[in-house]
Amino acid sequence: MKTNSLKIFNSLGKKKQAFKSINKDKVLMYVCGPTVYDLLHVGNFRGPVFFNFLRNWLEHLGYKVEYVYNYTDIDDKIINKSNQENKSTKEVSEKFINEFKKDYDSLKITRPTKTPKCTEHIDDIINFIQGLIKKKSAYSSEGSVFFSIDKFNGYGKLSGKKPEDLLAGHRVEVNSNKKNPMDFVLWKPSKDKEPGWNSPWGFGRPGWHIECSAMCNKILGPRIDIHGGGADLLFPHHENEIAQSESNFSNQFSNFWVHNNLINFDNQKMSKSLGNIIKARDFIEDNSAEIFKFIILSVHYRSILNFNDKIINQTINNLFKIYSSLKLSSEINNSEIDAAYVKEYENYFTLKKEEIDSYINNDFNTPGAFAVIFDIIKKFNLLTVNKQLSSEIKYFSIHFDKFFNLYGGILGLFQENRKDFIDSLNNLLLKSKEISEQFILSKITERNHARKEKDFKLSDTIRDDLMNLGIELKDNPDSTTSWYIKI
Ligand SMILES: [Zn+2]
Repeated sequence: MKTNSLKIFNSLGKKKQAFKSINKDKVLMYVCGPTVYDLLHVGNFRGPVFFNFLRNWLEHLGYKVEYVYNYTDIDDKIINKSNQENKSTKEVSEKFINEFKKDYDSLKITRPTKTPKCTEHIDDIINFIQGLIKKKSAYSSEGSVFFSIDKFNGYGKLSGKKPEDLLAGHRVEVNSNKKNPMDFVLWKPSKDKEPGWNSPWGFGRPGWHIECSAMCNKILGPRIDIHGGGADLLFPHHENEIAQSESNFSNQFSNFWVHNNLINFDNQKMSKSLGNIIKARDFIEDNSAEIFKFIILSVHYRSILNFNDKIINQTINNLFKIYSSLKLSSEINNSEIDAAYVKEYENYFTLKKEEIDSYINNDFNTPGAFAVIFDIIKKFNLLTVNKQLSSEIKYFSIHFDKFFNLYGGILGLFQENRKDFIDSLNNLLLKSKEISEQFILSKITERNHARKEKDFKLSDTIRDDLMNLGIELKDNPDSTTSWYIKI
């Protein structure tokens, strides 16, 4: 274990705290996963991309991380979908778990350690509820079981909402079976055709909140290091998880609560009614997983990420710069190195590593980390322009590659084949300019011909026309050797 200075913003208490794990070299982390009844949109993947990075960073610091990410595979939305499609809820949920896995894997990030499903833990959920009833934290009433929020003193400690404030101005479902209108359901009866399980309270199914408390306890134990999820889950879902778990085990449930913020589209919330939902798979197919991950990590995880054409184009440009430098670096033959530069660049990279580490250790400040990355790219480009392939650049490029392998691996970025990825970015840029490669090549042929014929007026016009479209040509005395897109 390395000593570390990691600080994480804890939603419980709302301040940055030094991270310390319960077990010496192990971190127990539970993150709320998707309800599986449809393909997921880009906003749903901010969590998976961010928590993958968080896990990688903890591993980099020397921890073994147990990362549990659940599937909610029984829920009213799943039941509605199964009715619409005349399928069983299991058919619906299994289908969308598979689709989710395809999307997740297409992001080329590491899978969580475990991905439990609610329906495979019904016994654990029933046991958990029985424990709460025994402690008088829950009560049954006509086939339902409710959690009694009056029995839990800490209710509201995560969200800062007090039970009495909640009641005022809150649309509370009228339910005469509840002792307090704010009590929430742990178990509810299933109607005739609805899916359900036998329980001490009759045929029914679990409420949503209880599944996470029960599965987390079963797999990781009653006390964990980090509980994560989207900011929209903070209340009531996570508040209720705390109430359930802490009432049942009389200890703090999770030491850290980490919430990633949401993704908006052009400053608007993504919603079905606005019709601005982008499915993650469509975005990845139209652009790439690399662009998607880069966008997500370029904004601090606690800020709203505003998805729009501007950020997509900026990201394409940024990745173009990074991959062009990485490609050039990999082409440098650094077999013979002049020892004179060793010391200078060892110091330079030690310093840059300290900088990037301190950004990440400061509550995962990825925009700061990206600024360090661009500093190094700038330095590399300066060296290649000024010094060509001198010993200096050879030595620099070795460290440069090592740096990008290490931090790229942790961020889940910069692992693409460098040449192929630049080609795909070129294609995207051309697509956004609505120009085809064939068009450019035909113009180059036409221009080469004009130059041969000494028609310099025509040759200049073609060059200028292409320039106006943002296409720059590189010539040797006889012909055009290459072209590139000005960014
Ligand atoms: Zn949950």
